[in-house]
Amino acid sequence: MTDTLREKLINGGRVLVDEGQGDYVWGHISARLSDNPNRFLMKPGCLGLEELTQDNIITVDIEGEKIAGDWPRHNEVYIHSEIMRARPDVMAVLHTHPEHAIAFSSLGKPLQAMSNDGTMFSAGVPVFSETTDLITDQPRGKSVAKVLGKGNAMILRNHGIVTAGRSVEEAVFLAIKLERACRIQLLAENAGGPKLFVKEEELAAKRARTNRGDSQGNAFSYLVRRWHLRCGCDVPKQYQATLENFDRSGYKGG
Ligand SMILES: [Zn+2]
Repeated sequence: MTDTLREKLINGGRVLVDEGQGDYVWGHISARLSDNPNRFLMKPGCLGLEELTQDNIITVDIEGEKIAGDWPRHNEVYIHSEIMRARPDVMAVLHTHPEHAIAFSSLGKPLQAMSNDGTMFSAGVPVFSETTDLITDQPRGKSVAKVLGKGNAMILRNHGIVTAGRSVEEAVFLAIKLERACRIQLLAENAGGPKLFVKEEELAAKRARTNRGDSQGNAFSYLVRRWHLRCGCDVPKQYQATLENFDRSGYKGG
């Protein structure tokens, strides 16, 4: 079971870098063990997000202590441990330093619904501003978890983003979409400022449609395929473009 979860983390890291969320050896992703909810798998320090392997992923407990693995643990482990402690529904957490989200956070403006991506976050994205420094102890991790609340995405002002999903696929999807929403708004701000927005009465339905569970999985599979096709590697069976691999639950008519 953990091999499958490790495989997801490995591919999640590749996809994030492919989408411009790599920051050399910084940024991290974790996944909770379903049969031991007080433990989670996590990317180690000193390596890039796209360098995860079955062997270098570490295991950490809910106190943030490493309990297995040779590689070092990120100092910011408490983002993961404290969100998982506060939110039993969360199975995956990630923290990255995407450029557009960081630049956008420096404007001090709320995200607005001017794109499909922005619509996904139109219920509001909390901003953590207690510090712009790293989250290197439990109290700071608890503060991050408190600002996230019941949400699934947040901005750490002048620092990066955090997403929390019911799966690795969801956490990755949210991170990619949040960065895109920030980038599109930055483009509009830079072109004189946005003047037209998604209609108020369309927001709820559009938000629900854009953030469907089947879309998260299908998009993740596509991004994993894109990574493998580009490097000329064989696409793992579970991500191949076959009808059996698609979740068609969101499509009317099947
Ligand atoms: Zn950071």
